[in-house]
Amino acid sequence: MKQQINLTIKEQYIKDFKDGYPLITPETIEKLEIVKEEGSLLTLEDNKKRFIAYAYYGRQNKGYGWVLSLDKNEKIDVEFFKNKIKKAVEYREDFYNDSSTTAFRIFNGEGDGIGGLTIDYFNEYYMITWYSLGIFSFKDLIVDAFKDVVKYKAIYEKKRFDAKGQYIDDNGDFVIGEKGEFPIIVKENGVNFAVYLDDGPMTGIFLDQKVVRKTIRDKYSNNKTVLNTFSYTGAFSVYSALGGAKKTTSVDLANRSLAKTSEQFSVNNIDPKTQEIVVADVFNYFKYAVKNKLLFDMVVVDPPSFARSKKNTFSVSKDYIKLLKQIIQITANGGLIVASTNYANLNMRKFRDFIEKAFKDLNVGYRIEEVYSLPKDFKVNKKFQEGNYLKVIFVRKIN
Ligand code: SAH
Repeated sequence: MKQQINLTIKEQYIKDFKDGYPLITPETIEKLEIVKEEGSLLTLEDNKKRFIAYAYYGRQNKGYGWVLSLDKNEKIDVEFFKNKIKKAVEYREDFYNDSSTTAFRIFNGEGDGIGGLTIDYFNEYYMITWYSLGIFSFKDLIVDAFKDVVKYKAIYEKKRFDAKGQYIDDNGDFVIGEKGEFPIIVKENGVNFAVYLDDGPMTGIFLDQKVVRKTIRDKYSNNKTVLNTFSYTGAFSVYSALGGAKKTTSVDLANRSLAKTSEQFSVNNIDPKTQEIVVADVFNYFKYAVKNKLLFDMVVVDPPSFARSKKNTFSVSKDYIKLLKQIIQITANGGLIVASTNYANLNMRKFRDFIEKAFKDLNVGYRIEEVYSLPKDFKVNKKFQEGNYLKVIFVRKIN
């Protein structure tokens, strides 16, 4: 039986929770010491013991746990999870009906009513990601609920609940069903991707950029030279090539990126030899590009929020402006920079300020052409804007 605990919410936060704010942060509660066990069910109350919400305790970088229901009569049982999953699946009906996209998110944490839990669909396979030991303690209930409302070939899982949200290696990550043979090929906007659900934390594709990638392919690539920095498996490069790019250059530090990027080109019938794939620190690549006077018509920049390489550490909040300045210098006049970040603590306004500052410092003109945040399948809780983490700006260099 799970520990059941009543927690008192501080007066000034009661209204936020009643309005639907989903995250229990340290400053909102009176006394936490009474909670010992991850996965404990919490009843949030005011100091007169009046009901506010049900929640669960699960430590994640963001806080202590998530609200599950504002309804006093709700029971947190298999039916509860079934209803949430059913509703989430219904919301993605247009994705399920679109045969040109067979990889998308079907459950997006607090956006779908349960923080700390995401579920992605990969062509009849599903991948559950658990973001805390607390939510993982509901695994049996959630998998049972899932089995009743969704058809699947197999379910895989990723555990990201150690202190820093790092992946915990767990021998193939298989949960139930018929094991897949990986890679499986999924489609996104008609583009193929080789996906691995049993091979460590990364599947081969980040599903939140689908609209941005489509825009790059359909509107901006034709006849262009494209530099894709922090390219991972080269998804932006593949879309650019399919959109008619003259040439793509993908740069990533990880050794695996060479084979992984080649594979993504190959499954789309593009000979990887016709493209350039560079395993290097992007900061060294910039030096090389400047020295050799390379200029690109389009540069995509989608770095991790934090990274450390042999010589450099990079953090979005401290270094993004510097990064942009280097990119502006190797972008042709009239060329396009697709600047992206998934750093949750930086909002769109600040991100725009970064772009403005980088161009102003270099005394170069610019025009913002398009702005994107998360796509529809990454449903956001309106009361929790931190969950709307993706920011992408298409900016034209004009001079
Ligand atoms: N843009 C990618 C996702 C980026 S993931 C996509 O669309 O799929 C972040 C990537 O940055 C990782 O593959 C990591 O290897 C790479 N990386 C981190 N620091 C780097 C550096 N200094 N130089 C080059 N690549 C780096």
